[in-house]
Amino acid sequence: MIEYLVNEVWCKADNKQCKSKLNNELKALYEDQPWFQEQVKAIYKVCKSLTIQEKEDFKTAFAHNNRIEELCDRTIAPIALSTLNKALVKVVKPFFKKLYTNFLGWKAIRDSYGEKKTYYDELNLNNGFIHCPCCGYGDLKTIYSKGRSAFDHYLPQKHYPFSSTNFNNLVPICTTCNSDEKGEVDVLKEGKPIYYPFAKNHPNIDVSVDVDRKVLKKLIEPTNDLKSKITKSEIKVDFNLQDDKTKSWNRIFDIKTRYFGKVADNRVSWLDDVRQIYRDPDTTLTTYEAAFDKVIETDSNKYLGFLKTPYLKSMKSNSHLIKAMDEVSGSSIISN
Ligand SMILES: [Zn+2]
Repeated sequence: MIEYLVNEVWCKADNKQCKSKLNNELKALYEDQPWFQEQVKAIYKVCKSLTIQEKEDFKTAFAHNNRIEELCDRTIAPIALSTLNKALVKVVKPFFKKLYTNFLGWKAIRDSYGEKKTYYDELNLNNGFIHCPCCGYGDLKTIYSKGRSAFDHYLPQKHYPFSSTNFNNLVPICTTCNSDEKGEVDVLKEGKPIYYPFAKNHPNIDVSVDVDRKVLKKLIEPTNDLKSKITKSEIKVDFNLQDDKTKSWNRIFDIKTRYFGKVADNRVSWLDDVRQIYRDPDTTLTTYEAAFDKVIETDSNKYLGFLKTPYLKSMKSNSHLIKAMDEVSGSSIISN
């Protein structure tokens, strides 16, 4: 519908009335929604003054910047708004931005295309998303929540207003990924490939955690004051993949830093799980290593398991660990 508006109405603007160029679907909205009518007319007026080349550029930019998957894969480059007629950009940019917030609420759109909320619910149910598909742990609202999480405009509207209503560009992710980390950053700015959220196949990314053995005591105790805060060099987080898409994902969403934070926050309770299972009077586990393995095996698929597993593996490989844990706990673990 919007493609028709751009290609057949605005880019064919001439001395005829704007309304005469609308198809039935657009005409219905035009009659129904004063805001839409006013905007369509105003943009039509600007388009009338464009040269043939400028109209062609508008058409191309609109088509191009909606090819989300190819833009993410970097098989095509985005077209910058700065290459288009300035007067045109001034009117279309706010139009597309507002269109996203407005048009999904219009009855005619809901009747023909369905509800945004239904789409969100089906998308999440089909994929089994409870947690954010981007960071793997952030809260994502579900059918059992009041309201729903906001869709992220993966290519931000600020830079790519033409794809504001393109559902290939609308991703349900957590608030931290969406607003706190990504915000309005131009994700294509670096010119490198980025993950396309709706790709059929995503590679498996394994997280590795490497702890600094010199600060073992600090790692197994809760942080009591700001001066003894764990640093990123003491718990190093990395990925098995080092390709452009993984690097971009890390850069855009600050993933490694956030994963470091999660490990630092949970490190003591994760070790406590190992302690507890080792001290369980009914346990058949005879070594501390076996207790580590048991927790790793049981929890690897649970919430934050993708971080807990590599952290515990890194701790387990440390021969001084048992001694240090023993000193801190004040009772002998090994002699039990
Ligand atoms: Zn997230």
